[in-house]
Amino acid sequence: MTCCSSLRFAQAILVRPDRLVPGWLHCENGRITAWGEGDSFPKDQEAIDLQGQFLAPGFVDLHVHGGDGADFMDTTADAFRTVLQAHLRHGTTSLLPTSIVARHEQIREFLSLCRQFRSSPTPRGAEREARVLGAHLYGPYFAPSARGCHPAGALRIPEAAEVEQLLQFADAIVTATIAPELPRANLFAAACRAHGIRLNVGHSHATFEQMVQALDWGVRHVDHLFCAMSDRARLRQSQNYPMRGGVLEATLFFDELTTEVIADGKHLAPELLRLAAKVKGAHRLALVTDANRAMDMPDGEYMFGPQDGGEPMQKRDGVGLTLDGTGLASGVMGMDHAVRTMHQATRLPLPDIIRMASLTPARIAGWDDEIGSLDVGKRADFVVLDSHLRVQSVYQDAVPVFSISAP
Ligand SMILES: [Zn+2]
Repeated sequence: MTCCSSLRFAQAILVRPDRLVPGWLHCENGRITAWGEGDSFPKDQEAIDLQGQFLAPGFVDLHVHGGDGADFMDTTADAFRTVLQAHLRHGTTSLLPTSIVARHEQIREFLSLCRQFRSSPTPRGAEREARVLGAHLYGPYFAPSARGCHPAGALRIPEAAEVEQLLQFADAIVTATIAPELPRANLFAAACRAHGIRLNVGHSHATFEQMVQALDWGVRHVDHLFCAMSDRARLRQSQNYPMRGGVLEATLFFDELTTEVIADGKHLAPELLRLAAKVKGAHRLALVTDANRAMDMPDGEYMFGPQDGGEPMQKRDGVGLTLDGTGLASGVMGMDHAVRTMHQATRLPLPDIIRMASLTPARIAGWDDEIGSLDVGKRADFVVLDSHLRVQSVYQDAVPVFSISAP
């Protein structure tokens, strides 16, 4: 694969944030420089004829643990590369490596690798991989009652000394998740905000009032809507009435809060995907894969998180499940599958679906000036999709990095 100083597409259906535009697009030096409607593209210039296929911005995944046998929590550069290359083949050109509840040193090693990968893009000539925007510090501060498939033994509450050591990597952390009902959650939130880290609520059984408090601390995003969170029915209450809202109701209620759905078709039934899209809209709802190491691997047993201290799970029926098969244990599908699933479930216009997989997550991560849409000046990250929304090819910084027709 060679680097092209200029890249041109003709006969494309451009997936703009607001509409589909049959037309052309031009890049120079890894950036989008022009686009237009129709075929007014200069005929003498060489262009890739997309023959009416969709040209969409590269996908952005805010919540992803692994793929192709590796997990970011394996904390080796090889494991990082394996996961990043696997997701690139599914159209994801940028992502946030996401940690799990684990021992202190394991999380520090994970953060150290995020820093290393963030600051050193793939060397020219090496196999390309999804761009690391920075870490999603996910755990260890989750509510025990809402831990989901995270290892119970490593759950804890924020201690000043540990938080300080984790935040030595603040430059490499984009977003951090907290359960606001934990003791000293406010101190963790304040420390993150002081370092400019974005704050999420997740794996929490907080009350609606505690969510109002969390908004005050600066929380602006909620992890995997409907999963591992309190709601009217699940909230433990000191009295039987009135019913009260939890994290779910607060997320749907507050326009200040963005959120995300694991749109693999297994975590959430179509009506829940439709509900999320209707209430939050494409501007405030991101698609995530929450993929673990079993993505692109055969059915069987795997470790969620690090081999040493992770939680055993199984891949079956297109999803991660606990070993007894009774609980969900994260996703095993790529972002292209999420795009198709969301499109089929909601029947929303394609620009809205693609926005949930590109511009909206880019904005949530603070990267929308650089990536997330086919706008002049942005990085030339693309995924070419056929009429069934299957990935045909992927470009990153105007370099072809994957094609299904490649030998
Ligand atoms: Zn989770």
